[in-house]
Amino acid sequence: MIKIEKLNKKFGDLHVLKDVDMVVKENDVVVLIGASGSGKSTLLRCLNFLEIKNDGKIIIEEKEIDPKSDNLNKVRERVGMVFQHFNLFPHKTVLENVIEAPTMVKGLSKAKAMKEGKDLLDKVGLADKANVYPSKLSGGQKQRVAIARALAMKPDIMLFDEPTSALDPELVGEVLSTMKQLAKEGMTMVVVTHEMGFAKEVADWVFYMHDGRIVEKGHPEDLFNQPKEQRTQDFLSSIL
Ligand code: ATP
Ligand code: MG
Repeated sequence: MIKIEKLNKKFGDLHVLKDVDMVVKENDVVVLIGASGSGKSTLLRCLNFLEIKNDGKIIIEEKEIDPKSDNLNKVRERVGMVFQHFNLFPHKTVLENVIEAPTMVKGLSKAKAMKEGKDLLDKVGLADKANVYPSKLSGGQKQRVAIARALAMKPDIMLFDEPTSALDPELVGEVLSTMKQLAKEGMTMVVVTHEMGFAKEVADWVFYMHDGRIVEKGHPEDLFNQPKEQRTQDFLSSIL
């Protein structure tokens, strides 16, 4: 479980996250929506300590993480992240990309990492691509490798920042179905996406962010059909 209390983040004078409270329980899928610049990526990056909050608490599995004294690399092992741009190592094969962190960071033996890596590639439907280089893959395949790579660290929670936004429309579905599968298996997930179909089908909760605050949260059927806040209504009518 991840719990955030009164999280604040500033970039210089720009106050980007304002007293954000959020709870993500085990097995929950939370979809985060909101206009460009509302702070969605910053929130995910704070959860993964790629950005360090100015103020507030981040509690992971009952323990408050202190960026000054806790080993953030250890924390990041438990919080996987998938980005819009996949950032695979171009000079490594698909399987080498997947086993890089488990062998280099966790010290897993190469044999064990390869066995697990192949299983993960199988899971994302890419068993036959283990030995090819990323340049030979479609965007959707690259993103599925990026998901397998994040899963290879056996994270407790996965964060997705617009994982399908850079893909050609015909490739979006394969990535979303991989994510749906993960959700079905009980992975705890926070997903920033514009794919409202995914949100309706998969999310337990939808959080709407506006100007650095979560202004409304609800189950998808409630938030999409009967948003309480005018700002949520305006946003939804601008995108749907
Ligand atoms: P989008 O939908 O466009 O991805 P977002 O909701 O993810 O938007 P963020 O990327 O979190 O928004 O950005 C929130 C605000 O913080 C924006 O005004 C952005 O310009 C600013 N910002 C983000 N990262 C930095 C940074 N490293 N330095 C300075 N300002 C930043
Ligand atoms: Mg963003």
